[in-house]
Formats: sequence, C-alpha cells, structure tokens
Amino acid sequence: MRITRTSDWREAIPFETPMIADAVMPGEAARCTTCGVGSTPLPRTELWAVKHRHPHDPAGTVRLYCAVHVPKTAQKPEPVASGPARKGARTSASRTPRTPKPTVPERVAAVCPDCFVEVPPTGVCGMCGRRVD
Ligand SMILES: [Zn+2]
Ligand SMILES: [Zn+2]
Repeated sequence: MRITRTSDWREAIPFETPMIADAVMPGEAARCTTCGVGSTPLPRTELWAVKHRHPHDPAGTVRLYCAVHVPKTAQKPEPVASGPARKGARTSASRTPRTPKPTVPERVAAVCPDCFVEVPPTGVCGMCGRRVD
C-alpha cells in the first residue's frame, strides 16, 4: 500500500536552501521559527522557507524564518569570496605546462606496387612476396 503524501511540494525544495515562503508554501501569515510563538506573524512574502534534513522523514522538515534568522547556509552568490579564489585557480591552471604530446612518428605503411596491398612491417608483401622498402 502506498501512502500518498499531501506534502509533495516539499520534494521540489532543495535542502538547506532558503526559499521565499510565499513561493513554496503560500498561506496566511506565519511566525519565524527562531522568533518563536511570541513574535508577530509575518506575511509569507517576508518569510523564508528552509527545508532541513529530518532523521525520520526523507522528505525533510520545512521551517519558516524571518530575514534576520534565515540560516546562512544558502548558496547565495558571494562575489567577494569566490572571485579571488577563482582567479587564483585560473592563474595556476595557466601556469601548468601543457603535457607535450608524445611525438610518435606515424608509420607510413608501404604498399606493394603490384598488389596494392599494405606491406607488413617486415617489408615483404604478403601477396606476392616482393620486398617493398
Ligand atoms: Zn526570526
Ligand atoms: Zn605484392
């Protein structure tokens, strides 16, 4: 028997990535998990929904956070941090000498002028026995 979840929307949310709550679970104003029950409910357009991993629920558990308490685990663009690192990586990559291609001379196969077949490395035509250099 298959249990049909009514919370399939959770599967669309990546783990540990803050999403605007209104976009993933629209509804009435809610409270930030960290601010607690004593806080003023915020409209979901101002709340972040973050799906956390849950030890007993593979679908995870979604919590709402205000802008102040939203976990900073998001893969937010950090141009300051990633900029120099990327530049350094590029510099080291350009410094790395290219692996020289081994210069293996391509053996030009000799062809017997009579039989027009490729002569083996022995230089003797396999068809007529003629020596081709
Ligand atoms: Zn809060
Ligand atoms: Zn031949």
